[in-house]
Amino acid sequence: MTAADQHVNAFSPVRALRPRGKSLPGHARGHNRSLVLQTLYRRGELSRADLARATGLTRVTISDLVADLIAEGLVIELGQRDEARPGKPATLLGIDRTGHCLIGIDLSGADSFLGALLDLDGEVIERQEAPLDGATGAGAVDRVVALAQGLAKAARTPVLGVGVGSPGIVNLDGVVLTAPNLGWTGVPLRARLAEATGLPVFVANDANAAALAELTFGGPDSEPGTTTAPPPVEADGNGDSAGHGERGDLMVITVSHGVGAGLIIDGRPVIGSGSAAGEIGHVVVDTDGGLECACGKRGCLETWLATPRLEAAIAADPANADAVLEEAGRRLGIALAPVVAALNLGEVVLCGPAHLLDGRLLAAAVTTLRSRTLEELHGDLRLRTSTLGKDIVMRGAAAMVLSGRLGVA
Ligand SMILES: [Zn+2]
Repeated sequence: MTAADQHVNAFSPVRALRPRGKSLPGHARGHNRSLVLQTLYRRGELSRADLARATGLTRVTISDLVADLIAEGLVIELGQRDEARPGKPATLLGIDRTGHCLIGIDLSGADSFLGALLDLDGEVIERQEAPLDGATGAGAVDRVVALAQGLAKAARTPVLGVGVGSPGIVNLDGVVLTAPNLGWTGVPLRARLAEATGLPVFVANDANAAALAELTFGGPDSEPGTTTAPPPVEADGNGDSAGHGERGDLMVITVSHGVGAGLIIDGRPVIGSGSAAGEIGHVVVDTDGGLECACGKRGCLETWLATPRLEAAIAADPANADAVLEEAGRRLGIALAPVVAALNLGEVVLCGPAHLLDGRLLAAAVTTLRSRTLEELHGDLRLRTSTLGKDIVMRGAAAMVLSGRLGVA
């Protein structure tokens, strides 16, 4: 599929007028199943009666769904609750977090592809790495396929699916429309991997995968004091949304060789009409002193913020490192302000090399953002760096499998 075809599809009436009314019985069952899995995933050990109360479903529906989920090996009985009350004690249920595994693959590295087997909590069980050795085009596709097959072979429990975070623009069919660094145009990555592994496969842009990782596994709770933003009005991480605002609104900015963004609104990733939502790297942020960008324009956000640009600027004038970082943060704040204001975002997370992003860069971004937005409307915004480290894209890719197969996010 070409980029032009994708545009036609994205604007076709079929997609725009998707029915939103009555749902079929099968859909309701799928929805209820996700609701049960999601409740058990987030809240841990619960009895069937607890589940009925928490989900609003009837005891009969719960018993039915739970029987199926136990047969599938996704839910297990954990024994009986110690109860002071007389009568038969309730049997507790939980997700069998080690009974299945997920494959997560990160294609965003410059030198190698990273992959891992993960349990359902997103903890890494085993890692594998595929050096690129300069491969691009079909050669790079072969390396992804070999990595996925190697991980599937290493699995000791059934694999729920393969998630892949890829650089470039990826459409909803898992086709990489364009990824210049890998020399890919119109690569049907999902279809290739599904054929090679026989598993369900989910492919998304790497920044979107990172955003999903933050939503699913992230949050500021374990953060070792890296925030320089003024204290937020609302307390963080005290709800089931892991601190990402009440509705699950979140933007993740990825800073590496390029600059990208993943957006989650109402708990759902934003894809965009041309599958390119979040491509903020080539937005020009003031042309004064802007360097020429690979895209041909001057002063793109990437020219201020991409890791190689920052490192080169600091290496050229080490005594001026603080000023370089502050300027990069200021440009980031300029680019973010209209996005934050338009969407009334609650949280923006920076993901990339901590030695560059933490400190002066983050502080300058916060100051700039606040000076360019209304305090009373956007004062609660939290800008912070990610705590998920270098595995963020890989874990986000695994979260895509959780979300796609179980409806858990
Ligand atoms: Zn550019």
